[in-house]
Amino acid sequence: MKDTLITNNVLQASVAENVSLIKSIQEQYFTQVEGLVMRSITAGRDLKTLTDELEQRYCIARRRAKFIANDQNNKATAQMARVRQQSLGCKKARWRHTGGGKHPRESHVAADGKIFDLNKGLYIDGKWIFPGELPNCGCIGEPIIPGVDDENDD
Ligand SMILES: [Zn+2]
Repeated sequence: MKDTLITNNVLQASVAENVSLIKSIQEQYFTQVEGLVMRSITAGRDLKTLTDELEQRYCIARRRAKFIANDQNNKATAQMARVRQQSLGCKKARWRHTGGGKHPRESHVAADGKIFDLNKGLYIDGKWIFPGELPNCGCIGEPIIPGVDDENDD
C-alpha cells in the first residue's frame, strides 16, 4: 500500500486526539496510552491486551478499561474510514444507523439516510458529529461516490 505512511500519520493524530479525551487517565500518561492504543489497532483490534494494560498500568476498573479499549478502537476505525473515503475523492456520505447497539440514540435513528459533508459531519443534538465516533455509536457513513451516487441534496 502506497499510502501506509499517510495512513499511519492520520491514525496517530486521531489516536492522540481521542486519548486526550479520556478522563480517567492522567495527562502525563497520554503518550504511553497512545502507544498502547496504536498497537491494539494495528494488531487488528486487540481489545484484550489493551484492556489488560489499562487495568494493570493505570489502575482503571475492568469495566471502564474494557469500555475505553472498545471506544478507542471504534473511534479510530471510524475516523480512518472517513479519511479513506475522502482520499478516494468522496466529499459526502450518507448516515446509516446500523441498529447494532442495545440502546440506540433516537437522534441517530432519525439521522439514518441523511447526507453529510465528510469535512463537517452531521448536526445532531446540538453538535457536528461523525458516525461511529460517540461512545457505543455503531452508525456508519456510506460514501457517496462522485458521478455515481450524485444527487440533488444541496
Ligand atoms: Zn449512532
